[in-house]
Amino acid sequence: MAEQDCIFCKIVDKELPSDIVYEDDEILAFKDVNPVAPIHILIIPKKHIPTLTDMGQEDAELIGRIHLAAGKIAESLGVYDRGFRLVNNCKDEGGQVVYHLHFHFLAGKKFKGVG
Ligand code: AMP
Repeated sequence: MAEQDCIFCKIVDKELPSDIVYEDDEILAFKDVNPVAPIHILIIPKKHIPTLTDMGQEDAELIGRIHLAAGKIAESLGVYDRGFRLVNNCKDEGGQVVYHLHFHFLAGKKFKGVG
């Protein structure tokens, strides 16, 4: 179900353009418009879940599959062996700006520390 006024739902529905790197029935991954790493992809569930704490028990497998998709994306982008960072920003103090659950896939440089 798309949520009105959600930019990521509009990207899922192809009402807004995006540079897609992975798609299946439940998951979409596209390039972040404002990359903070040489490779910066957003992996999202197509289902509108506003933030991590809104996920229900029924979403547990979906969130697991997002992590499996991250591995496939790493393979397709050539960083499977080098590694990557997967980040979720949850709510205000977590730095979340877009309230449609998403995971930042960051790669192409060596990360240090956690923030
Ligand atoms: P967050 O701060 O975790 O909510 O991250 C939201 C991310 O969405 C930011 O890194 C933005 O650069 C990115 N973003 C916002 N609008 C778009 C868009 N239309 N296409 C791709 N990335 C976007």
